[in-house]
Amino acid sequence: MNSSAPVRVRFAPSPTGWLHVGGVRTALFNFLYAKKLGGKFLVRIEDTDTERSEKQYTDDILASLKWLGMNHDEPLMYQSDRGALYQQIADDLISKGLAYRCYCTAEEVEATREQMMKEGKKPMYARTCRELNHSASGSPEGRKSFAIRAKFPLHGTTSFTDMIRGEISFPNEDLDDFVMIRSNGVPTYNFVVVVDDLAMQISHVIRGDDHINNTPKQIYLYEAMNASKPLFAHLPMILGEDKKKLSKRNGETSTNAYRKEGYLPEALLNFLVRLGWSHGDQELFSIEEMIQYFDFEHVQVTGAVFNPEKLLWINGEHLKKTDSERLLTILKEDFAFNHPEVSSVYVCTLIDHLKQKVKLIKELPDQLNSLCVAGAPEVNGADLKWNKVPEQKAKIKEAIQALSNECSGIVAKNSKTTLQECGIGHTEIDTKLREICTQFGLKLGEFTQPMRLYVTGQPNSNIGLFDLLPIMPWNTVKIRIDACLKS
Ligand code: GLU
Ligand code: ZN
Repeated sequence: MNSSAPVRVRFAPSPTGWLHVGGVRTALFNFLYAKKLGGKFLVRIEDTDTERSEKQYTDDILASLKWLGMNHDEPLMYQSDRGALYQQIADDLISKGLAYRCYCTAEEVEATREQMMKEGKKPMYARTCRELNHSASGSPEGRKSFAIRAKFPLHGTTSFTDMIRGEISFPNEDLDDFVMIRSNGVPTYNFVVVVDDLAMQISHVIRGDDHINNTPKQIYLYEAMNASKPLFAHLPMILGEDKKKLSKRNGETSTNAYRKEGYLPEALLNFLVRLGWSHGDQELFSIEEMIQYFDFEHVQVTGAVFNPEKLLWINGEHLKKTDSERLLTILKEDFAFNHPEVSSVYVCTLIDHLKQKVKLIKELPDQLNSLCVAGAPEVNGADLKWNKVPEQKAKIKEAIQALSNECSGIVAKNSKTTLQECGIGHTEIDTKLREICTQFGLKLGEFTQPMRLYVTGQPNSNIGLFDLLPIMPWNTVKIRIDACLKS
């Protein structure tokens, strides 16, 4: 491939399962490389395996890519639309003597493979039909059904320079005359991938290193079709914490599961970009930074371990920086969050505080609910100090009542909804509470502990009392303080 050719890369998932996070990492490296070099990121659905491909998986893959913001720059390609073309190209290669019809049955092929294994040889197709078409004898014994095989060179080596691993060579004698079209008419991956990468004018094939052994077969087909080859980059595997290939057994693999857990798409991408790639010791990246810094020189060759705790930490860090209005939209769309009784401004201010503490979006609804419902949430006051040391209780209640009266007066006088709107923010409420404590001879903690429980509805709220009192609708605060006073 001419190095000045425009960069055109593709993500080519097979819709035989939910989008795997390993697939997302492959898509991401393609996406970053394209964006960095002003190229195009394309998506092709590899659905030739009609038995295992399902529409629900295609839908899931496309929805997840959209969620992740990795949009394809040209219309999608579906391999299932292209059967006639594959057949035509295979026939053409037969007529050029570069592929041939193989009439062997599956049982015959298997029997020879077993025999070879017994003899301690590498099991391969015995190339029984390789010269048949040229002998003009046609099909043996009137057999009708045939597969189409590549007439792979018997000698020499096939080599390519991998962008990550450098030179890789395969002795041709180790490689089979692989099947291009099965006897049931279904074309194989190694064949269609080349036809389609050529049709899409792919400049760089970036994929998992489980495909390294397929590459020489594909190179043969490029040469057979007299086409120039793309560059190849084979990415290291993602491993579970047990150092085995990441699978459902050693980790969650479905992308949508991470969405449902409350991960941000950019946090998942940030985590995945570091699986096999580094930029100094930087751990946190925005999408723009990933695009800016991504390169193949810093992609490692060895497998990268998927560490769920690190993902959680990265998500927490991204959450802190995420706009609260966007989080509210996610809560409504993905977490059925619905509190029309309070204003979005109030909810967003709550989120401003809570997002500093939580690691997952799914933690927010529970914490928000008790702050949004009108009325007094049910609380368990058994652990309150005033129930353990009741002498002080009456005095504390008097102090709380005094605060409540004073604030009610201010809100009523200004005909406003919150203390904040009356100019009483965090600092002012802090001062006011301390004054009342002094007046009643109390410690601040004695006074705030019961109030915090009743006003937030939670024993350990992620929003401080002084942050909450000014912004919560005052009539709600009042109802909650009354519940506290009655307890
Ligand atoms: N459908 C193949 C896969 O999912 C694509 C491999 C490739 O990128 O060539 O593994
Ligand atoms: Zn054969």
